[in-house]
Amino acid sequence: MRALVLEEKGKLSLRDVPGPAAAGPGEVRIAVHTVGICGSDVHYYTHGRIGPFVVEAPMILGHEAAGTVIETGPGVTHLKPGDRVCMEPGIPDPASRAAKMGLYNVDPAVRFWATPPVDGCLMPEVVHPAAFTYRLPDSVSFAEGAMVEPFAIGMQAALRARIRPGDVAVVTGAGPIGMMTALAALAGGCAKVIVADLAQPKLDIIGAYDGIETVNIRRTPAAAAVAEATGGWGADVVFECSGAAPAILGLPALACPGGAVVLVGMPVDPVPMDIVGLQAKELRIETVFRYANVYDRAIALMGSGKVDLKPLISATLPFEDSIAAFDRAVEARDADVKLQITLPG
Ligand SMILES: [Zn+2]
Repeated sequence: MRALVLEEKGKLSLRDVPGPAAAGPGEVRIAVHTVGICGSDVHYYTHGRIGPFVVEAPMILGHEAAGTVIETGPGVTHLKPGDRVCMEPGIPDPASRAAKMGLYNVDPAVRFWATPPVDGCLMPEVVHPAAFTYRLPDSVSFAEGAMVEPFAIGMQAALRARIRPGDVAVVTGAGPIGMMTALAALAGGCAKVIVADLAQPKLDIIGAYDGIETVNIRRTPAAAAVAEATGGWGADVVFECSGAAPAILGLPALACPGGAVVLVGMPVDPVPMDIVGLQAKELRIETVFRYANVYDRAIALMGSGKVDLKPLISATLPFEDSIAAFDRAVEARDADVKLQITLPG
């Protein structure tokens, strides 16, 4: 069957690959319907690596997927053919120490779609563990199902923050993950979320949600806007989603005394931090790497209508146009949040 293959840095092709084997014990075969393009897919395309993960052989891209179960392997009881599902792309070793602790996202043995050398899911069919395959409510479309993966990162950030009802949060960086984090923080009980960025089109998109305020840091420093919004006290929770060095250096100024800082964005290189600034407010620092045990919660929020991710889907392109879709993602248009690819059939 055909797949979108990253042959090497800078070179994509749509070509035939061997299809997956039959669904084994505990596995399901899924007809893939929709796959979102993630920043990591784009980065492997443009740079050939992310940190220690280097593309050394052709790799199928894509890890944000929804589809329909078409075959169940022996022992699968909670899914049946015809079920509409989304898939969690990281498969840990269940016997690993990290998995036993519930931290399967940091299991060194985790196999994650489209992270070298593991193939992704931009192909018509995949076989996946049923335990990491989740049924979608009728009210959640395939397109929204493919948004569960990036939303899960926002959910992980909101959970790590330990939000209390009525908290005021700030999100630095209005990329897709910043937007997901802002919406997860709102759904998690924040009274208000202030999103700071310098790209006005992105702020306009996320600012259209009730409960979200935006600040364009080209015009107003984030710290001034947060002080204004909180009577000078600062935000209970600061989610750093830009990965930008100046934003990270400026984190202590955004938080209230005793508040929390959650590091979500990933700087490409090590960046300086204002340790004393963090200490002087006794800020609690949390970090986020992917997610663990949040898919059910994310789907429940979407199914209940409390979280609507549809406005973040900027364009949907057919599988045949996958390479053009990736080239558009590389362009990083100001008003593009999430681009998705739909598979035929
Ligand atoms: Zn992703």
